[in-house]
Amino acid sequence: MGMTLKDRKVVVLTGAGISAESGVRTFRDNDGLWENHRIEDVATPEAWVRDPSLVWRFYQARRRQLLEVEPNPAHFALAGLERKCGSLVLITQNVDDLHERGGSEPVIHMHGTLRSLRCQETGLSEVRMDERDLVEDFVLCNCCAVASRMRPDIVWFGEIPLEMGVIQREVGDCEVFIVIGSSGHVYPAAGLVNLANSNGAHTILVNFELPINSNDFDEVHIGKAGEILPELVENW
Ligand code: NAD
Repeated sequence: MGMTLKDRKVVVLTGAGISAESGVRTFRDNDGLWENHRIEDVATPEAWVRDPSLVWRFYQARRRQLLEVEPNPAHFALAGLERKCGSLVLITQNVDDLHERGGSEPVIHMHGTLRSLRCQETGLSEVRMDERDLVEDFVLCNCCAVASRMRPDIVWFGEIPLEMGVIQREVGDCEVFIVIGSSGHVYPAAGLVNLANSNGAHTILVNFELPINSNDFDEVHIGKAGEILPELVENW
């Protein structure tokens, strides 16, 4: 079935599914709603212009949740894989910090991070996780002479993911490409498997259900990442 990953150049792409067993909700599983909100109402630049306080309160709740959740066996297993293969580049669509807390470093957060906020004027990010940063009121930056409002440091739908140059280079150059817990709906992340395939990489999927792009993978493992990934990593 599989191939050994020892001494291979591996790139891993994770999605919301890897954090599901930590209690962080995905959104494709709930009728397209994310924590009871329509994506268009909370995760687009238009929503931030139309109703910044709704968007702000939504993300402040996500940010506070980071203090209550813990990495699960899937995050720890990936940190173990990093020690086993020749080189491992970890790319995540997730905005939580569970990979870092599970022992993986560095992590490429293509959709941004909850831990930081971004100045609306200068675009500069600051890690802002103190108690006074997690309140319902807007938070102001430390970079401007007259402090400006900060926005979530998140890549919203319609915005361009971060570090795409590095990501395309790494995915185009790897021998093994593994996707874990991603529905295959969100582009350009969902298209990276095609880039890996066209460069001859062996492609592996680990997901709870068959996602729409499952035919693009050489190897498919269906199950909960926290339950099946530790054993897969053991055998890779
Ligand atoms: P998604 O919500 O669209 O899809 C999640 C996929 O994970 C589904 O196919 C589901 O079947 C699968 N899944 C659910 N539980 C699983 C488990 N225990 N083990 C393995 N797979 C499981 O997620 P996506 O593809 O990452 O796209 C969602 C977008 O939403 C991303 O841009 C991401 O930034 C954002 N988001 C992030 C978080 C987070 O940071 N934890 C949470 C929700 C949404």
